[in-house]
Amino acid sequence: MVREDLFSLLADVVRFHSPSGMELPLARHIATTYLSDWDCTVDAMGNVLAQPETSDGPLGLVNAHLDTHPRHTTPGDAEILARPDTISLSNGDDWVHRPSKPVQIGFDCKIGVALALSLTRRPGLDYKIALTTQEEIGRKGVQYAIKNSPEFFKDTSFVLTLDRHSSEGADIIYSYKGRRMASDMFLTWIEEISRQVGSPMFRRAGSSHRCSDSYDVSWATSAPVVNLSVGIYDEHSQMDRLNLKEAEGTLRVVERCLRDGWNPGIESGVVTEKVGGGEE
Ligand SMILES: [Zn+2]
Repeated sequence: MVREDLFSLLADVVRFHSPSGMELPLARHIATTYLSDWDCTVDAMGNVLAQPETSDGPLGLVNAHLDTHPRHTTPGDAEILARPDTISLSNGDDWVHRPSKPVQIGFDCKIGVALALSLTRRPGLDYKIALTTQEEIGRKGVQYAIKNSPEFFKDTSFVLTLDRHSSEGADIIYSYKGRRMASDMFLTWIEEISRQVGSPMFRRAGSSHRCSDSYDVSWATSAPVVNLSVGIYDEHSQMDRLNLKEAEGTLRVVERCLRDGWNPGIESGVVTEKVGGGEE
């Protein structure tokens, strides 16, 4: 049942052709369809920032981006993506079926968006959501959101970005451009949770020259920030693919992290989180 639920959310957001700068219809659709019970805003750039209407204390933040890479798409793709059968599932196959002819489905980052929304259906989970725009053309959406809503990002206990391909395995990216975004203690916590839920993930340093929204968010909060792999392969291309089983594995990890909550003071008795961090 979980797989069908996740797939139907994915199919719903894939329908919207949303190359960078054209995310607004998707942002509005998400806000009205899935987040009407939340304290939710769609800002001037189309970023969707949502949190529970009432909550106390900092919450975990789940982050993904609404845009798809604009370079490998054409206006004609909109019509293909709008068809109800463009992507499908078949029993026993972990790969989402996609057309054999070249068209960028935009699994990067529509699966991250679908994962963030699927968690809204789990009872008893308190967390925040940031779905950003123009990530693929320099992370402009998240930068705007941080500038205009700094408290939303600052007041978090940890941040899970869901925007990482799985070509190098199930991993937890903890640094970009030489900037460390999460402590070893936090990474050990996630790795342990991933083992417990049966979807082991392993820490990895990120690129020294490319990055995701998580990099900008890490400057906006002293909470740990990581980017998690979500089953994406051949992203940004016209033959992009998605392994749903790997996405589901990450979903179990994220749900458990949000349910348990991160409190570095509890286990060690000492708060060891540092603001910022040094070079790799
Ligand atoms: Zn992405």
